[in-house]
Amino acid sequence: MPRSARQLSDLVTQAHRYGVRDEAVLAAIGSVPRQRFVPRRLAGAAFDDGPLPIGEGQTISQPAMVAMMAEAAQLRPGDRVLEVGTGSGYGALVLHALAGRVVTIERRPGLAEKARAALAGQEVGDVTVVVGDGTLGWPSEAPYDAIVVTAAGPAPPPPLLEQLAPGGRLVMPVGSRHHDQFLMRYTRPASAGSGGNGGPVHVDECRAERLTAVRFVPLIGTYGFRSRQ
Ligand code: SAH
Repeated sequence: MPRSARQLSDLVTQAHRYGVRDEAVLAAIGSVPRQRFVPRRLAGAAFDDGPLPIGEGQTISQPAMVAMMAEAAQLRPGDRVLEVGTGSGYGALVLHALAGRVVTIERRPGLAEKARAALAGQEVGDVTVVVGDGTLGWPSEAPYDAIVVTAAGPAPPPPLLEQLAPGGRLVMPVGSRHHDQFLMRYTRPASAGSGGNGGPVHVDECRAERLTAVRFVPLIGTYGFRSRQ
């Protein structure tokens, strides 16, 4: 087994330790080359199960957390997925390995550019990086079977719930700007609307589940926290 494959299997062991049991998710963690998504000077730490800085004050998520979120999103091959918070692009590739088309939004153009470059080196079919405020979603490609938000917001943004397909899942850390955050899953009723976007849906109509305590960088935008820069 090449060295990087052995090291990736350490990340699989960690994800399993965190309670991830979905075989497809574990296989994805074992196959996506995380070392390609971290800054070169940190390549030696790419296989440690922790977050790492990727510039502009942002981080590539801890692999076990990426695995937990992917499992929580209950992805099936062919699912359409929206990721909010591209960061390094690593999470987008993990989601793509489990689903179908992935649109990923990043508010920082510099990070989006780097993520595009990292993804371009991979065998990536259907992943598109766009720049914008992900709290507004990406309506032109809605509805999505799953939406995964990789930054913590004060509440689920209404546009994201609206852009879920019936039965779709929004997986997102919710809480204060820097503490008391929980990973939440909101599931849109399977019967809501018919075709198209399914239309607006109130959060109270969705099933809300609190999955685990987490710590993420803040989600900045219209339905997130205020920018402090
Ligand atoms: N999934 C990433 C982790 C990203 S960290 C990875 O695997 O590397 C969270 C990212 O969310 C940061 O890059 C931050 O700039 C971005 N972000 C914060 N608020 C956002 C918003 N409203 N829309 C899009 N991206 C946002």
